[in-house]
Amino acid sequence: MPHNPQPPTQDITADPTEEAVSATTDSILAVNPKLDREAISKTLLFVWTAHKGQIRKSGEPYIIHPIAVAKMLAELQMDSSVVLAGLLHDVVEDTKHSKQEIAELFGNDVAEMVDAVTKIENIQKGSDRTAKTFQKFLTSISKHPQVIVIKLSDRLHNMRTIKYMKPDRREAIAKETLDFYAPLAHRLGLYSFKFELEDLAFKELHPQEYSEVENHLKQTIAEREEYINSIIFPLQIKMNLEQLECDIRGRSKHIYSIWEKMKNRNCKIDELYDIFAIRIIVEQIPDCYTVLGNVHNLYPPLSSRFKDYIATPKQNLYQSLHTVVVGPRGTLVEVQIRTRDMDEIAEHGLAAHWAYKFNSRKEDYENNLDWIDKITKMQNEIPESVEFLEFLYKNMTPDDCYAFTPNGRKITLQFGATILDFAFAVHTELGLRCAGARASDKILAIDSPVPIGETIQILKSDTQEPQENWLAMVKTPKAQLEIRRWLKKSVEDQAILLGKKIYLQELQKFKIPLENAPQDVFVCRNFSTMNVERFYRNLGKGEISLTDIADFLKPYSGDNTVWHRGLFNVFRSGDASSTDTPITIGYNERFLLDFANCCNPVPGDNIKGIFIAGKGIQIHKADCSELAKYPREQRLTIQWESNDIKSSIKFVLKINSVDRIGIAGEIFNCISEHNASIKKSVLESKGSELNCRIEIIAFRSAQIKNIIQSLNSLAGVRKVIRA
Ligand code: MN
Repeated sequence: MPHNPQPPTQDITADPTEEAVSATTDSILAVNPKLDREAISKTLLFVWTAHKGQIRKSGEPYIIHPIAVAKMLAELQMDSSVVLAGLLHDVVEDTKHSKQEIAELFGNDVAEMVDAVTKIENIQKGSDRTAKTFQKFLTSISKHPQVIVIKLSDRLHNMRTIKYMKPDRREAIAKETLDFYAPLAHRLGLYSFKFELEDLAFKELHPQEYSEVENHLKQTIAEREEYINSIIFPLQIKMNLEQLECDIRGRSKHIYSIWEKMKNRNCKIDELYDIFAIRIIVEQIPDCYTVLGNVHNLYPPLSSRFKDYIATPKQNLYQSLHTVVVGPRGTLVEVQIRTRDMDEIAEHGLAAHWAYKFNSRKEDYENNLDWIDKITKMQNEIPESVEFLEFLYKNMTPDDCYAFTPNGRKITLQFGATILDFAFAVHTELGLRCAGARASDKILAIDSPVPIGETIQILKSDTQEPQENWLAMVKTPKAQLEIRRWLKKSVEDQAILLGKKIYLQELQKFKIPLENAPQDVFVCRNFSTMNVERFYRNLGKGEISLTDIADFLKPYSGDNTVWHRGLFNVFRSGDASSTDTPITIGYNERFLLDFANCCNPVPGDNIKGIFIAGKGIQIHKADCSELAKYPREQRLTIQWESNDIKSSIKFVLKINSVDRIGIAGEIFNCISEHNASIKKSVLESKGSELNCRIEIIAFRSAQIKNIIQSLNSLAGVRKVIRA
């Protein structure tokens, strides 16, 4: 029997005759032959009967709507239960049948999906906007995420027939489509849905602008095709010569995205270079890069516009190489290169994954349920449904988020970006000194997520500076890079200062007056460094041993100390340190100081240093028994920058936390990681609760803030207060 995959809807009769049901079942199976024919035919008869007598606004029998939805789902290669739920999606809402009945007739899974679709409908209609509904809805979608695809198919069909709706409903539905459903489709990587939803909604909301763009595209089609061909032909020849199997296409972008570009860049349509893109489809991932090389060979690339979404896929799994090249007439052209698999995902997104969920992509599929998981968890923390809807919407906003500077500059950042990311995006200096932000009269911490669409004023503090833990707070590569760069430079700067101090102390130990000290060139030659700063740096970082220094300085020494040469080491007899002038250490060396865990020295204690290769100075209490374990030549005489204990800051933290295994150790680590020391601690465990009172000594107030911040991020910690 011949199949007609897309029978014209007017052929569908109001009555579910045996013939009509059978023909429609055929047409659904024509789209995906793997579906369960019997189940579909049975469901179709049930749905058709249930909706009998109901008329769409277009005057057609209602049944055309569930059939259209079921066909879209079949096309997305959804399994039978999803297609059944698609057929049934309006039955509970619009007919006398109940959820229980659906469950008895079609099974629990199908009934739950239908129920979830009905709930979304109710939320949208505003009849029940309680948090409880959302909770139920989320529970349903987290169990059957495919519900979202059913809802999107439902919305797409309704948008295709929107002209039949009452004018006052049309605008609201189109807006909701643009604000909620299109981003949702994008979030799921369902680009084919996203594009059509956007165009339909845009046409409804701005008919004039829509037809302007549409007319322009129509009028210029011949010209554009000619131009596209002038780009494609040389490419095709090159690929043939290289024997690279590939499929090259050029096509216009959808109307809404063209209009958005015009709006964003404030230009006319004929000034846009990217109203179309060239797409090259290959078989294997390595081919993508070979093709890219060939494209760049033929047309010079704009390196700033190259994006490798193969190496780092978008959150919605989208993978592709994007490059912008200078085409034949000097115009810029976007070229997208991807494999056939990637192209499939780009069209059908997560749906493609659901379809393949039992294949090798299971892992990806599960990873992508993460965001649903996150949303489900978050909703417990957000009591108000309106706020929650807002949250849900914000989380569906694809890829990125944006906010404005006080002068109205729009900053777009990737999804999950924090205040710190925002500050770095505005200006590096602002990022390095960022202490928080103000947005709509709220003060936000540096690690708060960027409030989408708001104006953010970064609060700058001259005493603020980056810390190691900032790296975990930022999402954007720029912020990561700048923080790393700053930290690296600070370590280098500190190492230079410390190295110089150590060198001066060594000169003194050898009784070499400065005027007799070896010239810089000899120092550099001996230690193979480019300049003396580099030498200080290497010494400060412990990359040059004190033994090497001793070997080097010995010939310059005017002193009569007896030198012993061991198998490898030269050392002085007697305890040389007793005669040394101590090296002062303090905040300026903090990155190179390591507080020993054995004796937990604190500022103010009498201390000794151990020089550790590649790290710097490990600080011990002067009477620590561990000191004897280190060879004499590794020891340094050190003292605190100021022996006055008042120059360091003593403070007390009270911490309330869940008493879990390892928590106390983590708390202590947290404190010592910030180069602060614990003077005294009292821990009290009561039931499943742990209360700590810890006296801490730090060099600077910035440390206190950072310690509190890190403690707060430990799992189980409920409250940290400075007493
Ligand atoms: Mn519907």
